[in-house]
Amino acid sequence: MNTKRNPSVLIIGAGATGMLSAIRLRDAGITDITIIEKADRVGGTWRDNTYPGVACDIPSHHYCYSFEPAPWSHQCAVGSELQNYMEHVGKKYGVTETVRFNEVVTSCVYDDQGKWTVTTDKGAVFVVDFVIAATGILHHPKYPDIPGLDDFAGDSWHTAKWNHDVNLTDKRIGVIGTGSTSHQVVPELVNAGHDVTVFQRTPQWVFPFPNLKFPEWMRNRWKAKPSRTKPWKWFFKTFIEQFFVKATVGAPVQNAILKFSVKSYLRLGVRDKELRAKLTPDYGVGCKRLVVNFTFYPAIQKPNVDLITDGIEGIEPEGVRTKDGKLHILDVLVLSTGFHNFNYMRPMNVVGRAGHTIEDSWGEGRFRTSHAILMENFPNYFLMLGPGTPIGNNSVIGMAEEQIDYVLQLIDIWREERADEIEPTPQAVAAFADYIKAGLEGSVWVGGCQSWYQDVDGIPAIFPYPWSDFVKSMEAVDTSELTMRKLQNEEIARAV
Ligand code: NAP
Repeated sequence: MNTKRNPSVLIIGAGATGMLSAIRLRDAGITDITIIEKADRVGGTWRDNTYPGVACDIPSHHYCYSFEPAPWSHQCAVGSELQNYMEHVGKKYGVTETVRFNEVVTSCVYDDQGKWTVTTDKGAVFVVDFVIAATGILHHPKYPDIPGLDDFAGDSWHTAKWNHDVNLTDKRIGVIGTGSTSHQVVPELVNAGHDVTVFQRTPQWVFPFPNLKFPEWMRNRWKAKPSRTKPWKWFFKTFIEQFFVKATVGAPVQNAILKFSVKSYLRLGVRDKELRAKLTPDYGVGCKRLVVNFTFYPAIQKPNVDLITDGIEGIEPEGVRTKDGKLHILDVLVLSTGFHNFNYMRPMNVVGRAGHTIEDSWGEGRFRTSHAILMENFPNYFLMLGPGTPIGNNSVIGMAEEQIDYVLQLIDIWREERADEIEPTPQAVAAFADYIKAGLEGSVWVGGCQSWYQDVDGIPAIFPYPWSDFVKSMEAVDTSELTMRKLQNEEIARAV
């Protein structure tokens, strides 16, 4: 490539995706990079979530950067090991020292002249050519809209903001929610001998996946020669892509095996018929994000735990009152109620071309992008892991690696002076929405459930095709999907 210009790029967030973006941009010869992180450390999800039992439910040899294999202790690393890994990568690749920590980006405003003005809560102002919003998906805790929540007299917190200062010994603990997080935290609380009451609104399908510990001799071999982890990465990657992902997009054999696995696990794993009935979902397998776990069913059958399915009427100072009139007395209330998953880069104020706000584009709860990255009216602004990314039971790090290579191709168009402004055409955005919609037929996401993936039209903000299709879609930028303008507003290419 005959590179002429060196752009200024501002990356929002120093989680797994933000760090990756910085590393890849620098590898591509881009030197003017600013990284802004609201917290005091890198790590994103793994920094924020410290609840007991926090772990990745995707095998770590797959859930890690392709360029930095690690001698993982378990098949699925625990949260602290992942956080250490993130900090190690940040240091080793020289990212951490360049991050502006404890600073929140409050607004990004486009000036219609090829520049974004980015402002932070510390009053700093940056004028840059590109913004990469690596703000993550699940990081704004969602508090349940239950009457009386604030009246609870005991200690209460969200799983994403675990309060480690409260001694839980002899405490009666209530947990609201039974998603992936709850399936990890409840067994820890139960196995520690606490008296636990779990409030379930909707049961979940659970795929049994024991978290095996790798022997020390094996880890030592990986430490001595990291490339020895390659077959493991290949194995887990292939397993997820060929089994999990294909099962969700409707491949009949994989789908049948998946259904058989979760249903048999429930049948064999929970012997009591009444409890099993309570834990049996009435929607299709995989419609809600599949829980991958091997500890919840054993824990929920122990004598020191109750599964309550009567529905919550309200919260009172002493505990949770259910719709059958019963008051469940509690000392601690844990809210495992998920995240505002459609916030993406919000509450940041993002104003694009001609004063277009992100609320104008997405306000009604419809999330339109091109290739999950580009948004109409927001030139030179790239949203990592945006709506239409193949999230689900696969590695977001792998997804981000594909996406950043695509973003670099877009930036190269600018570097080669083929355009100053790059954004998707309206046709490309509409076509991408149609493409996502078309892929839903036969997929698990039309299985009659309400899940955090779905927008107001019930369209999941995911990629309902095999992984290979996603990789292919990221391989080469199709300039006919882009509106590319020169600064003088001379359009040099536009789709017909
Ligand atoms: P979630 O899947 O959104 O689950 C939230 C739970 O809270 C659901 O059971 C929900 O019930 C319940 N809930 C919400 N509001 C409620 C209310 N007002 N009253 C009663 N119940 C209420 O959240 P999550 O468990 O934190 O998981 C979110 C995502 O984080 C996962 O899907 C996964 O992608 C990610 N995660 C990943 C890992 C990993 O290892 N990779 C681990 C944990 C989490 P309904 O189902 O009825 O809405």
